[in-house]
Amino acid sequence: MIYTDTRDKKVAVDFRTAVMNGMNSETGGLYIPVEFPKLDSAFLNRTPEPSFREIAFEMAKPYVKGEIPDSDLESIIQDAYPFSAQIVPIDPVTYVLELFHGPTCAFKDFGARFMARVMSYFNRGEDTNLHILVATSGDTGSAVGSAFHNVPGIDVTILYPDGKISPLQEKQLSTFDGNVRALKVKGTFDDCQKLVKTAFTDTELRSKFRLSSANSINISRLLPQSFYYMYSSLVVKNRIPHDSKIDNASIIAVVPSGNFGNLTSGLIAAEMGAPIDGFVAATNSNHTVPDWISTGEYKARPSVATLSNAMDVGAPSNYERISSLYTLEQVRAKFASYWTDDAGTLEAIRACHDKTGYIIDPHGAVAWKAWNDIRSGDMEKLMEGKLDTDPAKPGLSNNVPEWAQSVADKKAVGIVLETAHPAKFGATVVNAIGREPGIPDRLARVMSLPDHAIPMGKDYESFKSWLCENL
Ligand SMILES: *Cc1c(COP(=O)(O)O)cnc(C)c1O
Repeated sequence: MIYTDTRDKKVAVDFRTAVMNGMNSETGGLYIPVEFPKLDSAFLNRTPEPSFREIAFEMAKPYVKGEIPDSDLESIIQDAYPFSAQIVPIDPVTYVLELFHGPTCAFKDFGARFMARVMSYFNRGEDTNLHILVATSGDTGSAVGSAFHNVPGIDVTILYPDGKISPLQEKQLSTFDGNVRALKVKGTFDDCQKLVKTAFTDTELRSKFRLSSANSINISRLLPQSFYYMYSSLVVKNRIPHDSKIDNASIIAVVPSGNFGNLTSGLIAAEMGAPIDGFVAATNSNHTVPDWISTGEYKARPSVATLSNAMDVGAPSNYERISSLYTLEQVRAKFASYWTDDAGTLEAIRACHDKTGYIIDPHGAVAWKAWNDIRSGDMEKLMEGKLDTDPAKPGLSNNVPEWAQSVADKKAVGIVLETAHPAKFGATVVNAIGREPGIPDRLARVMSLPDHAIPMGKDYESFKSWLCENL
């Protein structure tokens, strides 16, 4: 596969280069494959559907062709995914896609574990260490730390905003030893991301060290996230005749979004033939993308803190990929977009639990609320011009997606992505429903480990000198 660049379509590199560089330091652009090959229709129409790992292998194959032989790719996938995604029906037209069954209980395990194994594969035979720099708004750090922990030849430096992530998230990313270190930065997530981006464009630093990224800007994190969209949409397609019995139902993926890597992965799956008819881009009060879809103007802004803190992103990095792949009109046809504030998030955790008995985390709750409002009448009101779509107020944006009629006709089902285990946000869940979600053993264990985070200022010079002394 050839990979090009969001800022310069003349760029053509192989998978290895795209993965190992993370981003193109010459243009500041992000790598994207030049095509998204469709899977064979016989494969897509198999009943029962292929397993998650079979799908992962078939989807990954074209992107690594000529660089990773099939047998090695198969080992990478076997090793990356001892767990899978689970599809839980919570009402006849709503499926929760649980993406938290990996070691750190968040969806980022899917991307990070694949990326770590691919990088370690490409790093074989090198005699200097590869240094991964990663900024995190919550869950990336632990997923990346866990994915690379004890991988030879690679070390990881995690940057997170001090005081802006949950105590459990902080434990999960600051308690590694050996090749994984955490820096707690006096600033916001955007400050952390800026430090990492500045380091990547610093030619002096790059001449001293082999650096790579692990944010959702790395294409090897984005591609594997498309596996579970394919898998879940095939499973749901096969279940619809039994669950809701709707003929020709539209399948809508509802994605709680921050940096929009997850949603971009969904677009990739749809291009490759996943039976997904549309998307809902759901955000918290950091509604840069819903505002862009409403007004046509993209305005990055500082992030604000919310209950769904892994989505607190004011300048979503994958906006660049989405807008290089699609025009604004295409985006408006594919996506509904929606945002809610903290009061709406708490209300959603409560309402979801009351109506269905399902305990959803604050990130999934943002998506559930979007879907619940859409299918309970807001989409029809929007089509009739009767919905208040002021971008400054929570709710749907003013665009009517091409799949809107299927919602009005009660012929749409939603796949709500549940991106983290609710126990990671126990206090918020208790606040909403008055009871603690059960905590998985793998989460309970980290709470007792000692914390090794190193304090760091948000200015680039202190970060750079720390890197020069410690890498
Ligand atoms: C990272 C994260 C998100 C946002 O995903 P993006 O790919 O950045 O849009 C949503 N929920 C949780 C729990 C996350 O960790």
